[in-house]
Amino acid sequence: MTDLIAMGVDAASSRRAVAMAESLSGVWAAVGHHPLNQSPPDIAALAELAQHPRVVAVGEVGLDHADEHRGPHDAQEDWFHACCHLAAKTGLPVCVHTRDSTEAVYEGLRAHPGLSGVMHYWVLDWEWARRFLDLGFYLSFSGVITRGSRQELREVARRLPADRLLLETDAPWGTPKGRSGAMRPAWLLDTAQTVADARGLSLVELGELERANARALFGRLRLD
Ligand SMILES: [Zn+2]
Repeated sequence: MTDLIAMGVDAASSRRAVAMAESLSGVWAAVGHHPLNQSPPDIAALAELAQHPRVVAVGEVGLDHADEHRGPHDAQEDWFHACCHLAAKTGLPVCVHTRDSTEAVYEGLRAHPGLSGVMHYWVLDWEWARRFLDLGFYLSFSGVITRGSRQELREVARRLPADRLLLETDAPWGTPKGRSGAMRPAWLLDTAQTVADARGLSLVELGELERANARALFGRLRLD
């Protein structure tokens, strides 16, 4: 791994992601507004940050209906659409968070035809995978795929078209099997090995695929 994309979850963390991307050559930034925020997105601030050449995506954005008491659902929908509009306007892809909200996220993305992006922390079955693939989206796998109980997820990684596959840390969650504590980016190799095994690839071959896919989705990314 030589490059990574740091995600923002609100204007302040998006600003920090951009600052990191400016000072570290292998770091790129995404600017976004996580659905579990308690206040609306600062779209003007995100729009300004999105003009930075090292900002490669709008994210995290999405819907999270897992906890009734956090992130009011109606407001989340408005925020999600506002962020999708920003992505469409800037021509950037979206990095999408979904938890207990898959149908609503799917319909939300369908309302923005032409938008590209990645479904992050993918843990759903092939049927849902197929639907998001049909929308033109990529799927990104975390350390969850290494866990013994997740055979169905490895099956999705095996069946997925090669040009729609991405990997992520989702630190501090998504810790791979056999690792304890908060997720570390170095453990992405555990995830990569599991996906490579599922697809019958070497780690080097999977690495080449990942670079090609990241380049294809994140148009502003410049990889050596
Ligand atoms: Zn997320």
